[in-house]
Amino acid sequence: MKLHSTNAFVIYAKKMNEADLLLGYVTEDYGRITCFANNARKSRKRFLGKLEPAMLTKIKFYEKPGMTIDILYEVELVEDYKNIRKDIDAYLFISKIIEISRVLCQERDKNKNIFKLIRSVYSGLNGITDARGMNNINTILLKYEIYFISHLLRYNGIFPNFTSCTACSCANRHNNFYFSLKKGGVVCKDCAESEVRRGNQWDLKGIPVNFINLSELMSGSDISITNKLVVSDEILRECLLFLGNFLSFHTGNKLNYTGLNIQGV
Ligand SMILES: [Zn+2]
Repeated sequence: MKLHSTNAFVIYAKKMNEADLLLGYVTEDYGRITCFANNARKSRKRFLGKLEPAMLTKIKFYEKPGMTIDILYEVELVEDYKNIRKDIDAYLFISKIIEISRVLCQERDKNKNIFKLIRSVYSGLNGITDARGMNNINTILLKYEIYFISHLLRYNGIFPNFTSCTACSCANRHNNFYFSLKKGGVVCKDCAESEVRRGNQWDLKGIPVNFINLSELMSGSDISITNKLVVSDEILRECLLFLGNFLSFHTGNKLNYTGLNIQGV
């Protein structure tokens, strides 16, 4: 067995029997992994108080050749975003982040982007919840959610194609195309009309212009810039509705936002 060490965020925890836990992590170096933690609920030194959501930890785990579940050896706290856990709205928000990461982050993915994205969202949110009073947290959470999902879709290569018709590749220069969830992008009027003439039913909707503009502003920018964007809650909600529908369609409705999937930790 090989011992590995990496930074990680817990995304899942399930009680296995009296003292053991099965834990899911998004790691910096190995993508999503699942670990079995023997005696985790009793071992104060190795695990206790270090398995909470909104904590950055350094984990050591043994990899068994041919096995999909690793053995967690030790956890060390690196950064504790404890303000997030004190604020119910922020805490519910990160339950969404965790659930989306659980579904979209690939196992054993060496790409560090998703780990970095979660870290920037947690760190930004922890700072904001610390300095509350001046800010409307719900507006910030709406912006953070759009920032997080947009970046995650880009990293996974499933960001909607708004630039050219998904059927004939002609350029969408004036944002006057239709949008198709099924196609994962825009469709020009000619293609849409010829499909209708052939009797095919496409799921065509209006193009989400507000989301296109907002995601362009957010793409490649630091999350602190997101705080400063002046956008009405109505537009933010409209963008999230579009993203929610897109995510549900492209994850096959696997997302479950009923709360943190972390039991007995
Ligand atoms: Zn076309």
